[in-house]
Amino acid sequence: MGLLRLDESIRTVSPAILFVHSLEQFCGWAIFYNNRKNGDSSIIPSSYCMTSLISLINEAHACTLCAEHLPLGPRPVFQIHESARILLASQAPGRKVHETGIPFNDPSGDRLRAWLGVSREIFYDARQVAILPMGFCFPGTGKSGDLPPRPECALKWRAALLSHLQNLKLTLVLGQYAQAYHLPNTGASLTETVRAWRKDWPDIVPLPHPSPRNNLWFKRNPWFEQELIPVLQARVAEVLKRDG
Ligand code: SF4
Repeated sequence: MGLLRLDESIRTVSPAILFVHSLEQFCGWAIFYNNRKNGDSSIIPSSYCMTSLISLINEAHACTLCAEHLPLGPRPVFQIHESARILLASQAPGRKVHETGIPFNDPSGDRLRAWLGVSREIFYDARQVAILPMGFCFPGTGKSGDLPPRPECALKWRAALLSHLQNLKLTLVLGQYAQAYHLPNTGASLTETVRAWRKDWPDIVPLPHPSPRNNLWFKRNPWFEQELIPVLQARVAEVLKRDG
């Protein structure tokens, strides 16, 4: 159960009971639901949050909000389950991921799984690992690689989906776009932000994007794989073991 959060949907608060009208906004927060039409109060069923999340997932999968900007059209790619303990906050699908519809099903994913020390089986188990890019659809390619994630996407979907992840123990923030959202007050550059990885340890860890396009960065920053990756693997193993 989360901390009490003030919201315009709250109609009445008593020391023991929080009455709300909008269950959608209080998954994981509210204790009792007060039906104002017939006066009944009841505990929110535990299945409610999952049902609500499934509706949200279906809505997001059908999204066409920024279709006019997407060269290959909308194909939202993400994975989420309310029991996930690890969140991969990433950038946007590349062309190969767009084609397969499987997140990180590319060389970036191979490197990321090696960093985490997990198999594909664990990586693609949404009950353990949620994968939410800043933009769910392939944004197209520019002169120096893929374009940034579409800004409409996080505004439309991110807060609502994240609100269902009540069991997170570890958030990995991959690349500058996800870091601008999840770690807005850290370093001026990606290197500075990743260098300061101990700041929010062990809950939130900034990482560079694992794309082969960043090979030069990895070469210039050997401390990253020598210093951070071993402790990250131990932390991931600890989180997943507790899940077990
Ligand atoms: S990138 Fe996001 S906002 Fe745009 S169409 Fe895909 S899901 Fe919708």
